[in-house]
Amino acid sequence: MFTRSLRRAPPGVRRLASLPRALSTLTSSDIEHFLTFLPSNQVQASLSPGSTPQDELASYNTDWMGKYIGGSRCVLRPRTTEEVSRIVRHCYERGLGVVPQGGNTGLVGGGVPKGADEVVINLGLMNQIRGFNASSGVLTADAGCVLQTLNTFLTTKGHVMPLDLGAKGSCQIGGNVSTNAGGLRMVRYGSLHANVLGLEVVMPDGRVVHGLRGLRKDNTGYHLHHLFIGAEGTLGVVTGVSLLTPPLSPSVNLALLRLPDYASVLAVFGQLRSKLGEILSAVEYFDHTAWAVVNGDGEAGKEVERQVFGADDVPPGVNLIIETSGSVREHDEAKLSLLLEELLEGPHVLTGSLAQDETQLARMWELREGIAEACGKAGKVYKYDVSVPIQEWENVLETLRARAEEKSGGLIERVVGFGHIGDGNLHINVVCSRYDKQIEQLLEPFMFELVASKKGSISAEHGLGVQKAKYIHYSKTPLEIELMRTIKNAFDPKGIMNPGKVVLPVGAGVDN
Ligand SMILES: Cc1cc2nc3c(=O)[nH]c(=O)nc-3n(C[C@H](O)[C@H](O)[C@H](O)COP(=O)(O)OP(=O)(O)OC[C@H]3O[C@@H](n4cnc5c(N)ncnc54)[C@H](O)[C@@H]3O)c2cc1C
Repeated sequence: MFTRSLRRAPPGVRRLASLPRALSTLTSSDIEHFLTFLPSNQVQASLSPGSTPQDELASYNTDWMGKYIGGSRCVLRPRTTEEVSRIVRHCYERGLGVVPQGGNTGLVGGGVPKGADEVVINLGLMNQIRGFNASSGVLTADAGCVLQTLNTFLTTKGHVMPLDLGAKGSCQIGGNVSTNAGGLRMVRYGSLHANVLGLEVVMPDGRVVHGLRGLRKDNTGYHLHHLFIGAEGTLGVVTGVSLLTPPLSPSVNLALLRLPDYASVLAVFGQLRSKLGEILSAVEYFDHTAWAVVNGDGEAGKEVERQVFGADDVPPGVNLIIETSGSVREHDEAKLSLLLEELLEGPHVLTGSLAQDETQLARMWELREGIAEACGKAGKVYKYDVSVPIQEWENVLETLRARAEEKSGGLIERVVGFGHIGDGNLHINVVCSRYDKQIEQLLEPFMFELVASKKGSISAEHGLGVQKAKYIHYSKTPLEIELMRTIKNAFDPKGIMNPGKVVLPVGAGVDN
């Protein structure tokens, strides 16, 4: 019955199947109830008395990659915490599944509903900044505020968000917290566990945890808000966030280096750490396949090399983007220039370029931040976001490339490697002509076994969502999984929150 209103899924696309847990069927009376306290423009339902055609719910039912397709018939867009609370309380009483959704830029299918009876709560209209304390740097905002909007606001106050990622124009701070997003600045400011000071959360029974305290120190018992950071909407709906924002650095420098091989990356990274120390704010790696997918193969890619490096015939190799942020321009520039000169004289750097103004700085970042989007344009993408020791990155990539070459019969077109080298977080985008069961079976669980054999994590920053829920045992012990289930059951005894994601109930088909 869940698939009755759905379009046929293209081959390899995951039509999300419902869980065996006994959740209720959404009915017209539920929509009628929502309409008693929500204006009709905040209720988008294809089920009567809603009047939104199912097709118009497609953007809420489809993930950023077009890989996961759900079939929810009801999307609610609350403006206040009270409205979220009333929605969730009703769903709890009725036993309806609830899927919290932010900017829907997640890459593991976590924000996509699994079945036609799940209610999507999209936080996009909860987009008010609640306050900013200039002396402490504590920002308090609705969960639906877009990351870039918050950063723009903070810039006017002389501060900056402690995280930055390619999806910043769409992802929301509530989604960032719920996925414990990492991104480009983590090497400098640490994870959201370090920066989020408090949360306001609607629990699965509709009660509200008012935890927006904004204190840096508070050791009065369990640090509950940490449980919601990275919970991917399985424990409650985050409606408000308090977080610590660092001061904006007046001096930001960006350099792009072309290195001959991966061994050089390791050598240079060590020098960056020791010689740039406190001003190092990002170190991003991308290989030549990533360069080619963004800038074009052949002559097109070479032309960009000429523009960026100002030289003809730059040899292929691998790339590093290095950002420094500090408070004394002359000091930072002197430190960076000295190091770059040293590196250019040595064997590990072929050529490099230092951004001279804001335009060049933005252009350089595009080369790195555009990789995910360029892969999406090049084909259908299987994404692996893993933590492995940086000494193993090349080995992991080459092992995968060899397997693709040998076994995919040409279906795998590119294996693109890039990542946050400062955090040991490697991203692998496997670009194929189509989503295909045969390719998926070639890649999974092979990739996860490979990562586990290196003592890594199968999800460095994107979470488990639906893609990796059944593979959790590659990164967590049975006892850890049992404890996670205990927490899930204590917070959400009816299992209504984001069903089928992260920790699956025992007997849900795969015994993780
Ligand atoms: C181009 C691109 C680049 C990216 N780069 C990075 C990167 O560098 N680092 C990184 O970590 N990620 C990255 N991502 C992944 C994604 O942007 C992040 O996971 C982001 O934090 C998701 O935020 P969102 O608002 O889009 O959440 P969604 O995709 O809407 O949801 C993600 C998960 O969080 C839950 N959720 C969302 N909002 C709430 C809420 N208010 N309360 C409770 N649960 C909620 C959802 O149920 C779902 O499980 C990238 C994605 C893209 C498309």
